[in-house]
Amino acid sequence: MLIKLFIQNQEGDFEFFENLQRILLKNLLSKKILLILFLFTAPAVADESKFVTYETDKCTFNLCNIELAKPAEKAIVFGISLIMDTYHNTFGLEFPDDYKVKVTIISGKENFDEYQQKLRGKVAPCIGFYSRGYREAVVLHKENEEKIKELNRVIGVVFHESSHMMFDYHIHNPPLWIDEGLAEYFEGLSVIGKNKRIFLQKNRQSWCKWWAKNGFPIELEEFLNLDYHQFYQFDSKGKNSQGYTIGYSLVYFMMSSNATENIFKEILQDIKKSGRQGKVDSVKIINENYEGGLERFERHWKSYILRTKESRPLRALRKHMDDKISSALEDSNDPNRSED
Ligand SMILES: [Zn+2]
Repeated sequence: MLIKLFIQNQEGDFEFFENLQRILLKNLLSKKILLILFLFTAPAVADESKFVTYETDKCTFNLCNIELAKPAEKAIVFGISLIMDTYHNTFGLEFPDDYKVKVTIISGKENFDEYQQKLRGKVAPCIGFYSRGYREAVVLHKENEEKIKELNRVIGVVFHESSHMMFDYHIHNPPLWIDEGLAEYFEGLSVIGKNKRIFLQKNRQSWCKWWAKNGFPIELEEFLNLDYHQFYQFDSKGKNSQGYTIGYSLVYFMMSSNATENIFKEILQDIKKSGRQGKVDSVKIINENYEGGLERFERHWKSYILRTKESRPLRALRKHMDDKISSALEDSNDPNRSED
């Protein structure tokens, strides 16, 4: 229990805490020492007075220095329920009826960084993050930007970070190409007006097209087998966030047909079954479940890159195409949002 509390009050590298947990157990430290450790490492509680918190269906909103207009709130709740439906219907990952995603939106960089410091113990140059310790999707709203455009961008990042939270509910320590690839995929979800689709991120797509013609910076098999640290090491090489970009492209491809969606489901179910310490063998699963194995899969992925359409329907959206979500946001809907 104490170990659980300790882990839940931390943010960041999960592997580190897994290892720490193992070491602590191995050395049979007394509960007293664990308690002292917990008291020393419990982060300060954020300044609650700045925040307005309330609950809706599927979400707990936690807002700082910003009021969310009803259409925007409705768009976020709708998008999050679609992502949840996709996790359930496509991957077989179910959520309890009362499950809620905690969405924290903070207006102003200073407020955001202050909150980041409190939750993560560090300030990274980002516009959103998921706090594993607090189970919370935190997104920066930039002041002084064009209002509607900024709101649409914020909604995209909310979907990205919320996808991490939903993923984390079921699967810990996943291959990052899947976790980040899916988050980037859902970041492209547009729920506005009749334009409800998943949009392709043009910048990432351009890189993949270039690689598909001129050669990728890594073999697919090697990429699929990268562990947590290797992934970030690979990602930081070059300026194009190549780990995120290749993971995103694979996810976009795999969500494009029933055959590849099923492989995705097999991979996620395999990680879930094998538990926290489990390491999935995506290559083996693709070889066993895709006709022609990894070699044909890779060929199909690369040829798909060259003919990828700008947007795709999302299965979970089919029955909602005529829902009126938020015409107030419709005019300036910018589907080409991207996170840094
Ligand atoms: Zn992410």
